[in-house]
Amino acid sequence: MGPVSITNWAGNVTFTPPRLHAPRTVPELQDLVARSPRIRALGTGHSFNRIADTDGVLVTTRELATGIHIDEDAATATVPGGARYGEVAAALHQRGWALPNLGSLPHISIAGACATGTHGSGNGNRCQAAAVRAVEFVRADGELVTIATGDGGFGGAALSLGALGIVTRVTLAIEPTYDITQDVWLDAPVDRVLANYADIAGAAYSVSLFSDPGTPGRIDQIWLKRRDESPADGSRWGASPATADVHPIAGQDARAATPQRGERGPWHERLPHFRASFTPSAGDEQQSEFFVDRADGPAAIEAVLGLDLRDSVQVNEFRTIAADDLWLSPFHDRESTALHFTWHDDDALVRAALAKVQAALAPFDARPHWGKVFHLDRDEVQRHYPRLADFRALTERQDPDRKFGNAFLETYVY
Ligand SMILES: Cc1cc2nc3c(=O)[nH]c(=O)nc-3n(C[C@H](O)[C@H](O)[C@H](O)COP(=O)(O)OP(=O)(O)OC[C@H]3O[C@@H](n4cnc5c(N)ncnc54)[C@H](O)[C@@H]3O)c2cc1C
Repeated sequence: MGPVSITNWAGNVTFTPPRLHAPRTVPELQDLVARSPRIRALGTGHSFNRIADTDGVLVTTRELATGIHIDEDAATATVPGGARYGEVAAALHQRGWALPNLGSLPHISIAGACATGTHGSGNGNRCQAAAVRAVEFVRADGELVTIATGDGGFGGAALSLGALGIVTRVTLAIEPTYDITQDVWLDAPVDRVLANYADIAGAAYSVSLFSDPGTPGRIDQIWLKRRDESPADGSRWGASPATADVHPIAGQDARAATPQRGERGPWHERLPHFRASFTPSAGDEQQSEFFVDRADGPAAIEAVLGLDLRDSVQVNEFRTIAADDLWLSPFHDRESTALHFTWHDDDALVRAALAKVQAALAPFDARPHWGKVFHLDRDEVQRHYPRLADFRALTERQDPDRKFGNAFLETYVY
């Protein structure tokens, strides 16, 4: 039988493994891992590069229905690694619990999102993997192991780029459920936004700025997701309140976006920008994202908005993320500003635009998102990770023959 052909969500990456395995039990997965010389997991395929690729077999843990177990005393939930955030969030909310934050879409898997350092926004909010308290995975010899907070190696296991094994279950820190109110402010002059950047980034629990390349000199949308804060008056930044729900990308259907205009509701229906039942973002796109020191946010935003990227960018988004201590986290030891690019789906355009963006961001020591498109060399990536040697040593213990390895890890990690 020849290889199967599977594309990622965006369609810009094709995987051609002999088969996509979908074991229904953990022992079945253990057996598969033990007898496969090369193997990797695919989550929901929302990454834009070849991080999930393998020249061996590809496996999804989607069919491993391990259930959601809440430990109320410890305030943790142990959830299937292959479950989508949207499913887990709805189940937690129903039982009175919540996660601290979510990325812009609920469609992605827990294990896949944590593996790449997926994040939402908010000065006080760390990336999704920072909520991990334990990871259960099948390592190279087929053994099922758990690495938890306090264990040596935890700093590499919570955000692992899929290099340690196939994750079956993840234990996440939870908190009592809460509501969020989402307001959008429109059409602020860039110079006012940059001059008031700290005020804006701190104006709500989670803040996102969107900029459309077709309206230079403006920040088109400021999304404020409030938890307990009082409402911010965006007119002090030169913005006007949105009088209808909006989509971050001009011309896209606002019904795909989560409820706005001050309608308070559950955290998991407001923290993402996109509803689970709709295609998130544009669909026809690629994405890149780079992280700089939060204090450099205004200068870095000014630098990328000064580039003429009208032919390649659909929308830019700017967010903040709190620092953490995970070894391969792009937010390792650094309060961050994220500069995001939703590109038109054209490899040549994206490559040319990235050359400009990476040059403009080089003075800011920008770190790339592990799951998005970037064209940096090995040294430019590795120098950001002082704990890389510890990560490599951990990988060697769990996977001495690099059966979970691939070209991406060969380039940036091993
Ligand atoms: C429309 C859109 C919006 C996005 N918004 C955001 C955002 O707001 N913030 C952000 O940070 N990112 C965002 N992303 C990027 C996305 O969150 C990441 O690419 C994320 O990794 C996708 O999760 P996934 O389940 O699709 O993982 P995949 O892309 O399938 O896999 C990612 C990595 O995880 C590994 N992996 C998956 N499952 C397992 C497992 N069970 N065991 C071991 N390893 C595993 C894979 O091998 C691979 O290395 C967005 C992407 C899209 C398409």
